[in-house]
Amino acid sequence: MRPVTFTTKGALGKASLREANERLVLTHIVLQPGISRLAIAKSTGLSPSAITGIVERLKTAGLVADEKTEPTAMAGRPPSNLRLVEGSRNVVAVEITPFDATLVLADLVGNIVDRREVAADKDPETFLDRAHRALVDLISGIQTPILGVGVSIQGILDPATGQVIAATNLNWRNVEAIRILRQGIDLPFYWDNNANLSALAEQWFAAPGSASLDNFVFVTLRGGLGTGLIFGGHLVQGATARAGEFGHTVLYPDGRKCLCGNHGCWEEYASDKALCRLYHEQGGEAICDSREVIRRAKAGDAAALKATAEAGRNLGLGLMNVITGLNPAAICLDDFAACGWELIEPAIWDVLKSRVPDYWLAGVRIFPSEHAVHASLSGAVALALSKYFTSFHHGQMA
Ligand SMILES: [Zn+2]
Repeated sequence: MRPVTFTTKGALGKASLREANERLVLTHIVLQPGISRLAIAKSTGLSPSAITGIVERLKTAGLVADEKTEPTAMAGRPPSNLRLVEGSRNVVAVEITPFDATLVLADLVGNIVDRREVAADKDPETFLDRAHRALVDLISGIQTPILGVGVSIQGILDPATGQVIAATNLNWRNVEAIRILRQGIDLPFYWDNNANLSALAEQWFAAPGSASLDNFVFVTLRGGLGTGLIFGGHLVQGATARAGEFGHTVLYPDGRKCLCGNHGCWEEYASDKALCRLYHEQGGEAICDSREVIRRAKAGDAAALKATAEAGRNLGLGLMNVITGLNPAAICLDDFAACGWELIEPAIWDVLKSRVPDYWLAGVRIFPSEHAVHASLSGAVALALSKYFTSFHHGQMA
């Protein structure tokens, strides 16, 4: 989990300050399992007696517990270490894609506790209503407090209302997605698009001590091509929350017609659907499962190998623009690129090394996502958790 920074604006009321301190202590325990009360006091600058009081409140709430420590030969009480009670709270995540909807219940560290899957429907209201009913089913009967619901949807979303303004691969325009999903559910809802949440997942669930992802780009290839941009440690949303639509930057001005109405968009050449098309054009079967194309390539299928090489080259061409335009330290890819990394990585680097000056590429790390298939679902979990652990904006708890 990434390090957490608390920021405040304006004076805090007594209740807010108390909650801020509780969350500060809790976050120390999350980031450093087994930490002692004294170490938290040293780190936060709060007095040991204040920490003891806060820890007692967190224990009463069931959020933390003392670790059992082995008795030692030394005299005196052994130091008491604190740990998070992972199952003491839950979050819910919903991932809406052109293929299906996936819903999960997760604990405080992102372990999946329960899961539902819902088939897609061409009619958005029918699809979302189906997902809503699955959501009600998932949370009904759960005794543990649920902190919130994180939702991932493809396309351009209204940050204030969750309306899907346009989602080309879902073929949605002006769909009131969050209103339909949340009807009658008295929980906080948070939402963002799949590319942004995929980036958040990579950052939030990064292993302790792993390389910084404060300036990086996540390229999702599932259900189209989109990018999530994290710079300066934060998601870049743009003026109207439309940043990151690199899938609709143009590789070939006279190229294939894209669902956005333009011609030659990167998405048409390097996404999951592009790989399937390339496979079919090479004489392969007409399938719409990009990871199946990779499986066939790994098994030596000549058409699949050619299609994979071409998709890798097209990925490299687009990444050239991403690298020269944004100067990221790292780029992460999911879906077929992650599943077929040994085939895709050389094709990407061949393009980059032959077209981009060395000084652009120095230090750029390109790697496959560990969340190859459901990166944005993990991101929706991370979104709901991040609101609990880190959001403390404008003097109010989120
Ligand atoms: Zn396009």
